[in-house]
Amino acid sequence: MAGSKFAYVRNFELPDPLLPGTFMILRIDGHAFHRLSEEHNFAKPNDERALQLMDHAARDVMTEFKDIVLAFGESDEYSFLFRKSSTLYNRREAKILTTVTSLFTSSYVFNWSKYLSDTPLKYCPSFDGRIVLYPSTTVVRDYFSWRQADTHINNLYNTLFWALVLKGGQTTTQAHAVLRGTVSSQKHEMLFSRFGINYNELAARFRKGSVLVREEVSTETEGVDGLEATPLPVSEEVSEVVSSGAPRKASKKKVRVRTTIELCHCDIIGDEFWNARPNILA
Ligand code: ATP
Ligand code: ATP
Ligand code: MG
Ligand code: MG
Ligand code: MG
Ligand code: MG
Repeated sequence: MAGSKFAYVRNFELPDPLLPGTFMILRIDGHAFHRLSEEHNFAKPNDERALQLMDHAARDVMTEFKDIVLAFGESDEYSFLFRKSSTLYNRREAKILTTVTSLFTSSYVFNWSKYLSDTPLKYCPSFDGRIVLYPSTTVVRDYFSWRQADTHINNLYNTLFWALVLKGGQTTTQAHAVLRGTVSSQKHEMLFSRFGINYNELAARFRKGSVLVREEVSTETEGVDGLEATPLPVSEEVSEVVSSGAPRKASKKKVRVRTTIELCHCDIIGDEFWNARPNILA
C-alpha cells in the first residue's frame, strides 16, 4: 500500500530489537513513591496493603505475558524475567517496555481500592521502566540476589529507623544520625536491646520481598475410544495441550501442561529455589 504522501515520516521510526537468545529483565519502579506513600498515609516502614497491591499488579502482568517466568518485588519496584527464547512483539524494546509498564500501572490504579479501601487515590501514580539484557544464567541469578539483598538491607535500615522515630521519639534527622555508619550486627543489636524486636521474626514478606513464579503442573489423563481426555480444572491457564507418544488403539494419552502463578516470600539467593525449578533458566 502506497499510503499518503505523508507516509514517508514512518521511515524515521527506527527498529529497536533486543538481542535474541538473551535473558530480558524488565524492572518497573514507582515514580516519587516516597511522596505517594506519605500522601496516602502508608504504614511505616512497610505498608502490607500497598505491597499486596504491587503483587496483584505483577500477577496481572504475568497472566497477560506468558513468557514471564519469574518476578520479584520489593517496595515500589518489580522485576520481570522473560524466558530467553521469548519472541514477544518480535523483541521490540519500546513495545514490550511500554505495554508492560502501562499494564502494571493501570492494574495498580484499577485495584487500589481493593487494598487501600479507606484511602482514596489523590492523583495518578506512575512507574518508570527499563529492560536490561543478561547473557548468562549466572548474571540472572546474581541480578535476583542483588535485588533480594537490597530488600534485606533496606528493610533492616527502615525497621530500625522507624522504631527510633515512632517508638523512640526521635526526629527523623536524629534517627538518620544514629544509624549513620552502623553495620548490620549493630542494627540487629539495637533493634533487640532497645525495642525488643528480633529482626529474624519479622514477616518474611518484609525481609525477603515477593517472588511470583510460574509453576508447571502437568497432568496425564487417559481418553477412552478416541474420545478427548476429560478437561481438568485449570487454575490459571492452559498453556499447551499435547499428545504424547503414538495414539493407541483404544485410548489416547494426553498430557496437559497447566501453569499456575505462585506467590512466596522465600530465599532466592541460595541454590535450593533454582534447583527445584530448572525451567526458569532453561
Ligand atoms: P524515584 O522516583 O526516583 O523512584 P521514589 O520516591 O519512588 O523515587 P524509591 O527509591 O523508589 O524512591 O523508594 C520508594 C519509597 O516509597 C520508599 O523509600 C518508601 O518511602 C516508599 N514506599 C514504597 N512502598 C512502600 C510501602 N509498601 N510501605 C511504606 N512505604 C513504601
Ligand atoms: P495494537 O495493539 O497493535 O495497537 P489495536 O487493536 O490497538 O492493536 P490499532 O491499529 O491501534 O489496533 O487500532 C485501534 C483500534 O481500536 C481501531 O481500529 C478501532 O477498532 C478501535 N478504536 C480505537 N478508538 C476507538 C474509538 N474512539 N471508537 C471506536 N473504535 C475505536
Ligand atoms: Mg526510580
Ligand atoms: Mg520509586
Ligand atoms: Mg524503588
Ligand atoms: Mg492500538
